[in-house]
Amino acid sequence: MAVDSTLSSAVGASVSENDAKALQFIEEMTKNVDSVQERILGEILSRNADTEYLKRFQLNGATDRDTFKSKVPVVTYEDLQPEIQRIANGDKSPILSSHPISEFLTSSGTSAGERKLMPTIHEELNRRQLLYSLLMPVMNLYVPGLDKGKGLYFLFIKAETKTPGGLLARPVLTSYYKSDHFKSRPYDPFNVYTSPNETILCPDSIQSMYAQMLCGLIMREEVLRVGAVFASGLLKAIRFLQVNWKQFAHDIETGTLNPKVTDPSVRECMSKILKPNPELAAFITKECSEENWECIITRIWPNTKYLDVIVTGAMAQYIPTLEYYSGGLPMACTMYASSECYFGLNLKPMCKPSEVSYTIMPNMAYFEFLPHDDSSAQDSSRDSPPRLVDLADLEVAKEYELIVTTYAGLCRYRVGDILRVTGFHNAAPQFRFIRRKNVLLSIDFDKTDESELQQAIENASVLLKEFNTSVVEYTSYADTKQIPGHYVIYWELFVKDAANAPTDEVLSQCCFQMEESLNVVYRQCRVADSIGPLEIRVVKNGTFEELMDYAISRGASINQYKVPRCVSFSPIMELLDSRVVSKHFSPALPHWTPERRR
Ligand code: AMP
Repeated sequence: MAVDSTLSSAVGASVSENDAKALQFIEEMTKNVDSVQERILGEILSRNADTEYLKRFQLNGATDRDTFKSKVPVVTYEDLQPEIQRIANGDKSPILSSHPISEFLTSSGTSAGERKLMPTIHEELNRRQLLYSLLMPVMNLYVPGLDKGKGLYFLFIKAETKTPGGLLARPVLTSYYKSDHFKSRPYDPFNVYTSPNETILCPDSIQSMYAQMLCGLIMREEVLRVGAVFASGLLKAIRFLQVNWKQFAHDIETGTLNPKVTDPSVRECMSKILKPNPELAAFITKECSEENWECIITRIWPNTKYLDVIVTGAMAQYIPTLEYYSGGLPMACTMYASSECYFGLNLKPMCKPSEVSYTIMPNMAYFEFLPHDDSSAQDSSRDSPPRLVDLADLEVAKEYELIVTTYAGLCRYRVGDILRVTGFHNAAPQFRFIRRKNVLLSIDFDKTDESELQQAIENASVLLKEFNTSVVEYTSYADTKQIPGHYVIYWELFVKDAANAPTDEVLSQCCFQMEESLNVVYRQCRVADSIGPLEIRVVKNGTFEELMDYAISRGASINQYKVPRCVSFSPIMELLDSRVVSKHFSPALPHWTPERRR
């Protein structure tokens, strides 16, 4: 078993006492994966033994793995929807968890167009906090001196709502930033941010971004790392600077805050930070007024040692753009987490993005794995439960779907992520994030699957009926060449009467109708300007046949050929783009409010 020697040898070496404790903890957890997992399952099953959900499967007090695996089914969100709805409606009886559900975490994964609601309990905050507390001790092994400066992190809270029964429903990071764990965190020289809490906690995302960027500019010499949760968030911040740098330079020159920032607590805290500094204002004007924004991150923040952003999974599409803006700074993907559960961390955070592997911490939940390449194991029917593998028993190079059992009451829940085992740290497997199941298009937090795209196209094509026109074939593409990225839909149309063909106005309305039909996370990202207007590119008749010919020339079987519903391979893009006859964009923002439609 390959062991990351940097980490193992650091335990006991000259690291700070705090770091040594954290590294020791990682060593203990990863050496004792199986026994920790057994203990965690035992704890979850004994404390939740009297929940309505577990009683249904007649475990009769058993807390062992065999009984659990033989009696409790593997489930999806849709299977749990009735229980979740009852909790949301105010039923406080112990349905899924013996501990009261403290709030719902709204996932960026959707079900029937709405965000999934993940139940959580108060103590989960401690588990999340514990995982966060391991990140810097690992980073300090690779990057010295991070206590000598600050981190410029763009962190935001999002809209929250209440369920009919009065429970809060909000994203997991909003819940974390608003918690005392975050707000009253003790001073840690390795975790000093340029953004004061007031700017992160400002509910207006534009004012929040404005103030956080302004702080980053003012403290530019102190900044040692620049980050956001996901790559798309950091690119959004850069675009914000591109659009607003004149105003920032003005504020810095005069020492006055843009009057559009109206939040009193942000104004109050910025008044302590902002002082007239014409020299800095001139520097910002000089750097930002240049046409060329290559290396803008290192030009403005010259002491940056790395970018702290997730660029694995759907975010990998942003790596070239981030390399361009940062002059090739390392990109650290530090952790792997979700609304259901925080999973683990990257023990070699300075590795290349293509080599990132996450180590799941066995104390976070009970983890099982559905072999992904074994088609017989994919059947989740209740009669023949699929054979799931335990964390300690995984095999290198195999792919698995992640299944969790959490303290908050999710039992054998399919997260939907496909992971590949790349190796081990002690006895703990390490995982490459391969993909999320059923995601066709993603720009920011949005995840659009094939059936959602199909439905959106059907809804939009209703507008073509009066023009005796129909959509013969379609495919899609997530265009992230510009910020914000946008969805491109290629349409081949059958127009019966060329004299009555749909106009640009009609096709633009089709774009809008598609946007209206997409899920709530897509619409929210649109309204927040994290995704640009959807585009339809109409291609010449016969284009999709050419696409098939091309695929067959490259070895696809004629019998089994299916039109790909999403494309990204350059020769195919070039073929499609060379056949475009017209382009149309959505003229307006789709409808979005924080309230759920159902
Ligand atoms: P959410 O439930 O909205 O918090 O989204 C969680 C999902 O985001 C996970 O199940 C993954 O699909 C994705 N995700 C989280 N962390 C990472 C990561 N480090 N790399 C790739 N994908 C990630």
